[in-house]
Amino acid sequence: MIPYGLHSVDGKDIAEVNKVLKSKFLTQGPKVRLFEKKIQKLCNSSYCSSVSSASVALYLACRALNLKKGDTFWTVPNTYVATANAGLLCGAQIDFVDIDPLTNNLSIHSLKIKLKRAKIKPKLIIPVHFAGLPYDQEELWKLSKKYNFKIIEDASHALGAFNNKVPVGSCKWSDITVFSFHPVKIITTGEGGALTMKNKDLYDRVEILKNSGITKQINKYKKKIKFRWYYEQVDIGLNFRLNDICAILGASQIKKIKSFIKKRNQIASYYNKTLSNFPIELPNIPKKFRSSFHLYVIKVDKKIRNKLFNELIKSKIFVNMHYLPVHLHPIYKKKGFKRGQFPVSELHSERSISLPIYPELSIKKQNKVIKKLKSFFENTKL
Ligand SMILES: *Cc1c(COP(=O)(O)O)cnc(C)c1O
Repeated sequence: MIPYGLHSVDGKDIAEVNKVLKSKFLTQGPKVRLFEKKIQKLCNSSYCSSVSSASVALYLACRALNLKKGDTFWTVPNTYVATANAGLLCGAQIDFVDIDPLTNNLSIHSLKIKLKRAKIKPKLIIPVHFAGLPYDQEELWKLSKKYNFKIIEDASHALGAFNNKVPVGSCKWSDITVFSFHPVKIITTGEGGALTMKNKDLYDRVEILKNSGITKQINKYKKKIKFRWYYEQVDIGLNFRLNDICAILGASQIKKIKSFIKKRNQIASYYNKTLSNFPIELPNIPKKFRSSFHLYVIKVDKKIRNKLFNELIKSKIFVNMHYLPVHLHPIYKKKGFKRGQFPVSELHSERSISLPIYPELSIKKQNKVIKKLKSFFENTKL
């Protein structure tokens, strides 16, 4: 069988994890900080905090930016539900901005119209770097200055992606960036996530919230007690930490990120080349971006999408679809959202298929996928 995504864990990763298992610290030890520093270096960021998943990272990002009841936040329908849940868990109201049909990312055009018309302006916006392709970061940043909203980048797909020379995660054009280390993503820690942040204030807030609301910064204590056993709770949080076993796996994985991304881009180029003569819309990567190609999403005529999808699955090619528009899930219907409100995202979900792409996908397997697609189109009238 050929999955749509798969982790690559090698002997070196396993050896590193083994060492930690035999060490004094399984959690709250030195490997957590080691991993965070490696992310900082990769992203050219001064602050990184690791957590137990990207879902948690998105929630903590909203909390750190003080999103609360009475506030409104916006995101795109074309994302995993966690992006939207983050703000809803803070008690805020949600609304959506449609995507651009070429990039599948937040449409700056739709956003401008919506911002002009909106009676209630968003306190923050969460754009997604869909499939690993950066959204238009500079334009969104400009709008955030004009309309006074914060930005959390959902970069769950985009560790290792670039906008010109600027790595995703630098927070040059945002307040916080969030990454996922779920096994299908660019690197893995089993489960895990991280936030990079624009400033120390946000970093301190996240560190407190992920440690049950406890501060260990002596200079922040209300009381002037300096015993080692003393601590103060200053906010309400939970334990959202990443442990050292996961962190060392991530630190070992991140050493290979260049080759992972190169391989993903090679696989994408090969699909581009071999599928160009078929009635398939291929991914469109504007020149200034380097995609991390977490996903390789094709779009076909919606009349044949399900048939093609099922035929691929029948041949044990486990393609997927990203994403069911968030606003069409039952809990959003209850809030009053309807089909037809975000037509580009809706059509995207009716036309797209995520083909297999992962560093260890062999040419032989990729050729099997391509052959299946070719025979489908040779035998299907459009
Ligand atoms: C995977 C993913 C998440 C959630 O990541 P977890 O680490 O599984 O919590 C959030 N947003 C997007 C866009 C994702 O793809």
